[in-house]
Amino acid sequence: MRLKGKVALISGGAKGQGKVEAQLFSKEGAKVILGDILDDLGQEVAKDIQDTGGEATYVHLDVTNETDWKSSIEIVLKKYGRLDILVNNAGILIRKGIEDTTSEDWSRIMAINAKGAFLGIKSAIPVMRQSGGGSIINISSTAGLVASPSGSASYTATKGAVRLLTKSTAIQYAHENIRCNSVHPGPIDTDMIQDSITDPTKLTERMERLPMGRFGTAEEVAFGVLYLASDESSFVTGSELVIDGGHTAQ
Ligand code: NAP
Repeated sequence: MRLKGKVALISGGAKGQGKVEAQLFSKEGAKVILGDILDDLGQEVAKDIQDTGGEATYVHLDVTNETDWKSSIEIVLKKYGRLDILVNNAGILIRKGIEDTTSEDWSRIMAINAKGAFLGIKSAIPVMRQSGGGSIINISSTAGLVASPSGSASYTATKGAVRLLTKSTAIQYAHENIRCNSVHPGPIDTDMIQDSITDPTKLTERMERLPMGRFGTAEEVAFGVLYLASDESSFVTGSELVIDGGHTAQ
């Protein structure tokens, strides 16, 4: 088992990629705490993991709320006394160009995607230090590397922020054995991009730009996150793991 004995906190774990990461981490021996704002779905994910013999707890965690982060970490500490892995996965997409983006849109997406990751890191570091080290994985996007015609200006800005927040964290805490890496998925078949799956014109446009001619799956991202979470990546910090079917290689 690749995460045997490790304790992992995953934000946005009620569905999509976070849910699959929670399930995979549990199969690999981790004790999982998953947080989200979708309480019913999150409880179900935790229960399903428990029903298959794994250990999982759901916590209400709005990543924009520092008090939620504090109470989530308190639950982790009370239950397990340590934290080894944090996956800053929660995120939203507001698909608008610059002139259509309102200041409210900008503030909301920045608060969830960028500030949410910052608050997660800030809350986890003291506990990881106490635990002798840890691995933080920030889910950015190919939108954190390059812009896209079908993309969103504000989303791209948040994912670029996450990319460099990752590197700052990595160099600041490397000497304490706390690693921090970013993951950059291309289009992944989850609820987040259903608008471009259900619209045939948008779908054709997007597929034409994808060398592998398909979207990725949440499982294909989760295996990359698992590598960064495990001790197999013990010398990897500040890096960018691109999982995009060749999208940004062009
Ligand atoms: P998803 O299925 O929409 O899952 C995201 C989860 O985060 C949802 O449960 C969502 O709840 C939750 N969330 C939203 N705001 C939150 C908040 N304030 N606090 C806590 N949780 C919150 O999308 P996904 O594809 O799994 O996305 C996971 C991550 O991958 C995101 O960071 C996303 O930006 C990134 N990503 C996705 C793609 C893609 O193509 N799908 C590509 C690259 C990167 P709601 O449903 O209520 O919003």
